[in-house]
Amino acid sequence: MALHFKFAAIAATAALMGTSALAQGFPDRQITMIVPFAAGGPTDTVGRLIAEKMSADLGQQIIVENVGGAGGTLGAGQVAEAEADGYTILLHHIGMATSATLYRNLAYKPLDAFEYVGLVTEVPMTLVARQDFEPTDMAGLLTYLKDNAETTTMANAGIGSASHLCGMLFMQAVEAPIVTVPYKGTGPAMTELLGGQIDLMCDQTTNTAEQIKGGTIKAYATTAPARLDIFPDLQTVAEAGLPTMEVGIWHGLYAPKGTPAEATDRLSASLQKALADPDIAAKFGELGTQPVAADQGTPAALKAKLEGEITRWQPIIETAGVYAD
Ligand code: ASP
Repeated sequence: MALHFKFAAIAATAALMGTSALAQGFPDRQITMIVPFAAGGPTDTVGRLIAEKMSADLGQQIIVENVGGAGGTLGAGQVAEAEADGYTILLHHIGMATSATLYRNLAYKPLDAFEYVGLVTEVPMTLVARQDFEPTDMAGLLTYLKDNAETTTMANAGIGSASHLCGMLFMQAVEAPIVTVPYKGTGPAMTELLGGQIDLMCDQTTNTAEQIKGGTIKAYATTAPARLDIFPDLQTVAEAGLPTMEVGIWHGLYAPKGTPAEATDRLSASLQKALADPDIAAKFGELGTQPVAADQGTPAALKAKLEGEITRWQPIIETAGVYAD
């Protein structure tokens, strides 16, 4: 009876303060982070590193669930429909912005369907090939594609994925009709590249760095505006004469629309701690990237980024005329 009274009093106080009792003790159980691509790929890698750090801070486990397919829109759509209680969150990348234009029949509106938690990282991409692919450098690749584009294959993680975007920019830049092959994520695509079943892929260093270092695939260029610290010999796309291929793959953390601010604020505070953690900087650094500055791990920073990026990519995609429907 006394206990009942106490709970009722807490709930009443919380209601008076405009704070939901649900979110007050947030989180009091396990959280699911949906990664909208297959396990073992670059988005998965970023998600797992951040989930591990945030779990320690939140005192509750964040488990990663991979929902790959349709360039990230299946997983994002699942989170858009999930209960808005803070216990289902989404780690997505630039595809959140490009899918707004690429998918004309998307069941959710990227700008309206989510609450924002914060920005996580921006990852450079690398144009890579199976180890025994004939061209040995970027100049050789460009010459090779003049006669062989139609028999050259390039992997991506479906329309709307970062690898698709990069491939699209590449094909536009070199005007070569390369054959694209979609996967549920570039984790499985990397397996095929290593097995020699596919020729090319443009993917994030969070997936390619270890393989480039190990010499199991070859790299032609990076999409970063400057050479990468981990691969100082790798030329940039601008140096290779393809400046329109420059792109960085930013990642953000979202929750379904209507998630209480108490939960998103708690998640955001935890994300900011993770971003400031030297261990995360070191692990990201090994993979050729860096966390964003901790003050970018906020709802406002992610919202501004998404809005700006939808505006930026819309005309480029419309000019390319590539749609998923
Ligand atoms: N993010 C990757 C891409 O867009 C896919 C993945 O994470 O597997 O290509």
